[in-house]
Amino acid sequence: MAEIDAAISVRGVCKDFDGFEVLRDIDLDLAPGTTTCILGPSGSGKSTFLRCLNWLEEPSAGSIRIDGTLIGRSGEGKAARPMARRELARARTSIAMVFQHFALWPHLTVLGNVIEAPVHVVGRPRRQAEEEGRAILARVGLAEKADAYPHTLSGGQKQRVAISRALAMKPKVILFDEPTSALDPEMVGEVLGVIRELAKEGLTMVVVTHEMGFARDVADTIVFMDGGRIREVATPTAFFTNPQSDRAQRFIRRHG
Ligand code: ADP
Ligand code: MG
Repeated sequence: MAEIDAAISVRGVCKDFDGFEVLRDIDLDLAPGTTTCILGPSGSGKSTFLRCLNWLEEPSAGSIRIDGTLIGRSGEGKAARPMARRELARARTSIAMVFQHFALWPHLTVLGNVIEAPVHVVGRPRRQAEEEGRAILARVGLAEKADAYPHTLSGGQKQRVAISRALAMKPKVILFDEPTSALDPEMVGEVLGVIRELAKEGLTMVVVTHEMGFARDVADTIVFMDGGRIREVATPTAFFTNPQSDRAQRFIRRHG
């Protein structure tokens, strides 16, 4: 795939924290409309990588293109430089992120959470944002919760609100960082079900997950990380039936 055709294109991304190397030479192209699941042991750099993708974390080197637009600049051997703040804010609106711990605004209703960024970040008219927000909530099965406050919801419902909030920005890409890890087991299915539907609709998504069954069923591509590097990029079938590295084999044996 040409860099320019990818929804996200990553080249040579490295990240260190005070000299401690967390990501090393990451190259990856994500095709539009595909779901990529990132697997790997705890501490392998998965969250840091997701955070670099939307520049929540600034890479120490390398470049990232979103839909062909360079959001980080890499010079010859120099550390990546972020784009101007305003440009960056605009680029970032095309990537939404869903976190393990929901990160909802406690003082806003469900609908308030969903329309916050569309109204205040991109300046969409409130009436339009509300209409779109209610439609999204209906899509994730939360139509009747629009006026409820987050503390009254179950974990699964909170995460579906967080997904609705991401969708409300009409992003080109949604990043999920272990979206079901904080949930009671009985609520995992309802959240994975919503993500599964979004995959069918052709959104471009990157999902860090420990849910192997989900990754196997839903991913177009599996990315396996270990020790801050991408060790394998494969289809689910290839990855789960014939992992190439010892590390991946061990990981699958432990989690599979
Ligand atoms: P994963 O999501 O795969 O569990 P992380 O990306 O959270 O891995 O972390 C990778 C490594 O980077 C870990 O060793 C972690 O301790 C370290 N790390 C992550 N964030 C920071 C930070 N802000 N400062 C220092 N070290 C960090
Ligand atoms: Mg993590």
